[in-house]
Amino acid sequence: MTATRIDGKAFAARLRERVGAYAAGFEKSVGRKAGLAVVLVGEDAASQVYVGAKGKATLAANMASFEHRLPSDTTSEALMALVEQLNNDDSVDGILVQLPLPDHLDEQSIIAAISPDKDVDGFHVINAGRLSVGQTGFVPCTPLGCMMLLTDRLGDLSGLEAVVIGRSNIVGKPMAQLLLDANATVTIAHSRTNDLASVVRRADIVVAAVGRPQMIGKDWLKDGATVIDVGINRLPPEPGKEKGKLVGDVAFDEASEVAGAITPVPGGVGPMTIAVLLRNTLVAAHRNAGLEAPADL
Ligand code: NDP
Repeated sequence: MTATRIDGKAFAARLRERVGAYAAGFEKSVGRKAGLAVVLVGEDAASQVYVGAKGKATLAANMASFEHRLPSDTTSEALMALVEQLNNDDSVDGILVQLPLPDHLDEQSIIAAISPDKDVDGFHVINAGRLSVGQTGFVPCTPLGCMMLLTDRLGDLSGLEAVVIGRSNIVGKPMAQLLLDANATVTIAHSRTNDLASVVRRADIVVAAVGRPQMIGKDWLKDGATVIDVGINRLPPEPGKEKGKLVGDVAFDEASEVAGAITPVPGGVGPMTIAVLLRNTLVAAHRNAGLEAPADL
């Protein structure tokens, strides 16, 4: 068997187009653009790239982008004051504080200061709680993007065996919760799981969110499994090259011989994250304006 390649890049492009069209409609009916504020503290190179990409994508989706770039010695009080100002700003529907923050700032308390109704990253404990008890809130972008790819591919997930490898608050746990809500039978595996390969071999759906390059080979997979690879790992550079290749947690080529469908890295889950962030922001804008968000967002 050769697995179908799940094209997250194309799916994300279609979602961004839909968000852009609905955002234009939102502006017409409400009289203002939906707005996303992104806060970056410090000069972390990767974070600068992410923040730049988020700003561009927001503008391209017909929404307003508010970028706040603060020096790395910004105090907790100053950052809290900015978050409070954004909480109270009616032109801002979504607030994202780019992580990681410099060591002297406590991420949990900064995230806790964001209004849960503007927490489009879905990291606030209130949103984690809402997800856990089945209330409407915001779901972290990466797992929600994985879920969109899965339901697009498989339709109804009822009764399927799903194994999520990884239990972080931003990927593994919310992913497991979403799969459970979709009536899959869910196992969460992690670094202390015994005989991980046999656990994964049971799965109709495998979501790998570990951060270990090409850990999952073909002998870990059940025939026809759907494999969602969240991992982003850079291999050491080959001789003469400046940068190593980006790979996932799954050995893509060999896994493709067994899986039914699989996301590549890059071009799978990665592009979904920003697309879902835009989606969450537009949903927030509708809620803030007292409107129902379009069902196909
Ligand atoms: P974390 O480091 O927070 O979590 C990793 C998880 O993997 C932990 O639960 C850990 O278990 C588990 N783990 C580590 N080693 C093993 C092992 N040998 N066997 C089984 N489980 C193991 O990472 P994140 O959840 O933040 O991210 C995971 C990956 O996804 C990373 O590669 C990251 O770059 C990528 N990512 C990609 C995104 C995208 O947009 N595509 C967005 C976010 C993340 P334990 O809890 O026991 O330590």
